[in-house]
Amino acid sequence: PPQAREPLERLAAQGHEIDVVRVTFPDLLGTDRARDILVEHLPSALGHGLAFCRAVYHTSPRGDTVDVAGGLDAGLPDILVKPDLSTLVALPWEPGVAWCLGEATDPATGERAPESPRGVLQRVLDAWAEYGLIPVVGPELEYFLCEEAPGTPTGWRRYAEAPGNIYTAGLRGDPERHLLRTIRHLRDLGLRVTAGNHEYSSGQFEINLDHSEALDAADRGFRFKAAVKELARKEGKLATFMAKPFNDEGGSGFHIHLSAVSDTSGENAFDDASATHGLSDLARHAIAGILAHAPALAALQNPTINSYKRFGPDTLAPWLIDWGLDNRSAMLRIPPERGAASRLEVRLGDASANPYLVIASTLAAALLGIRAGEEPPAPLEGYGYDVSKAPQLPASLPAALDALVADGPLTELLGKDFTSSFLAYKRNEVDRFQQHVTDWEFGEYAYHL
Ligand code: GLU
Ligand code: MG
Ligand code: MG
Repeated sequence: PPQAREPLERLAAQGHEIDVVRVTFPDLLGTDRARDILVEHLPSALGHGLAFCRAVYHTSPRGDTVDVAGGLDAGLPDILVKPDLSTLVALPWEPGVAWCLGEATDPATGERAPESPRGVLQRVLDAWAEYGLIPVVGPELEYFLCEEAPGTPTGWRRYAEAPGNIYTAGLRGDPERHLLRTIRHLRDLGLRVTAGNHEYSSGQFEINLDHSEALDAADRGFRFKAAVKELARKEGKLATFMAKPFNDEGGSGFHIHLSAVSDTSGENAFDDASATHGLSDLARHAIAGILAHAPALAALQNPTINSYKRFGPDTLAPWLIDWGLDNRSAMLRIPPERGAASRLEVRLGDASANPYLVIASTLAAALLGIRAGEEPPAPLEGYGYDVSKAPQLPASLPAALDALVADGPLTELLGKDFTSSFLAYKRNEVDRFQQHVTDWEFGEYAYHL
């Protein structure tokens, strides 16, 4: 087909003979859902779209079906995924395979499926556009690399465990050169990786992506997680983005750096050299909005039961709803650079979250603060984690889901169809967990009570 010829010829000119195209789209959790298509069958995929059972939006990661409107009640109909060949890249580690994103559409309307996380983000970006503003986002993701440990309860342990594996330990903490291979592959995929480092714990890494317009940044964050996981599995390891995989170490964050440029001047609208802290009115209102909506944001940015075990005092993860100037103990940090680099670093999200929803929800809250002209409290002074100074984040997923339900303006901006599907999905997860007896309970109660 003409649409397919040009991108495939472009890859052929770079020496890639492609015979399979993988089309991937994000489900509600941001999990990559893919189908591999032999190139000779691309024409029909491009014409009609690829049919996936709508159950992709209705099954938990463990495969349990969740009853969401338009799913079970409608007999589990199809969604159609339209490949976007402008995103086609050769997979550096899988010769012959090229990879593109797809957009989930509703067969009845031809429009984006209401559950499409890309659609949720686009909706929020359209609202920013009414203000003549283009949000700019730089994602930072942490994850743990695990190696097989047969005979242990989970079957996995942290990669290359050793006491010398500390923050920015470099190759001492990575004897198999995982990070070097990964950042080179990610560069070749066009994800615009800028840097990677060993994080605080053995087996923990952070990789930073360059900033760009929000949808592109979310696409890259989504592809990043999928690619890192796939590369690790290919080497017999497990890259996990779960928020807090181990009791004895901190968790993995999904920080985003956020600013906005004027669509006419291209100038950073968060910068104002003449204002207090060098931050514009707009930046202050955005900060206030993010703080005001933080309990509801947690539902989307800390979306698992496990997520709430990452929060806590003295963790570098947030615990309180606060902001500070170059202060990593606050939920929202203002990095010290100003001018074109004036920005907010939102440290709330954890790595398990759907990149589209982390970015969409942060931007929605910031915009609500801008609309209302809200003012933030005074920034945190000194080391944070003092509960007498700021309100606490929700302590559990159920509490965060309640906060999301209670936040009318935020759910309105994100889309009611989307939020009701998300909530049904998450309530199902909570219900299943509440029926589950954990090892901790046995250890705590079995012998003495
Ligand atoms: N791991 C911390 C978090 O969960 C962040 C550590 C850092 O500042 O890089 O957010
Ligand atoms: Mg970090
Ligand atoms: Mg950071």
